[in-house]
Amino acid sequence: MSTTAAGLKALHHLYLRLHEVNEKLELGPKRIKFKEQFALQQEDKLKTAQEQVTQLKKQVQQKNLDLHSNEAKILNLKGKLNTASSNKEFDIIKGQIEADQMANSVLEDEILELMEKIDAAETEVQSWVTKKDTAREDAKKIAQEFEAARNSLDEEIQECKAAIADAERIIPDNIKVQFARLVRGHGSGALASVEGKFCSACNVMIEPQLRVELNSGRLVFCKSCGRLLYMEDAQD
Ligand SMILES: [Zn+2]
Repeated sequence: MSTTAAGLKALHHLYLRLHEVNEKLELGPKRIKFKEQFALQQEDKLKTAQEQVTQLKKQVQQKNLDLHSNEAKILNLKGKLNTASSNKEFDIIKGQIEADQMANSVLEDEILELMEKIDAAETEVQSWVTKKDTAREDAKKIAQEFEAARNSLDEEIQECKAAIADAERIIPDNIKVQFARLVRGHGSGALASVEGKFCSACNVMIEPQLRVELNSGRLVFCKSCGRLLYMEDAQD
């Protein structure tokens, strides 16, 4: 077991850890945004339900106005009944009264029906209020959790970077530039282990000659994908 392989393996694991911490840092705001958008959707649904209640109440208000205006009309017509100058006129007025009473009976039924709809719509409003509040709290909780974790994640990144700088001393000067380019391009994928005879990044077989070089502790890049290789069975 070469010390180079163990050192490269350790370096690879540090890069993987850095990648993992960076992912958590990126994922946090995405989750918060997702939860906030969900809360906004619940608010929109609440507004729609509230609008529905408002519309139904307006309809009830209008029908109540019609009802009262018909009642006034009926009262007025009843007064005219006594002063009817003929049977014909009496019958006409009576017919009008009956028509208005019928209209009011229909209006009353419609109002009752609307009141039931309002009850149902108000129940729905309440359920959206609850859903909206829960979604808001959820978003707030996620944001607070992330805020609390952020500092330790930042610290972990600094730790990883310091450990990486330390571990990278294993990389000789003549390949530092090439390795830095690999890190820029692939991040934690700059290194790849060799499992059995294959590069774990691209699954291409490593030539026997290169495996001999790897085993003797030389730095070898995969000829297929360019990653810096190390033997997987290296011990830390
Ligand atoms: Zn490869």
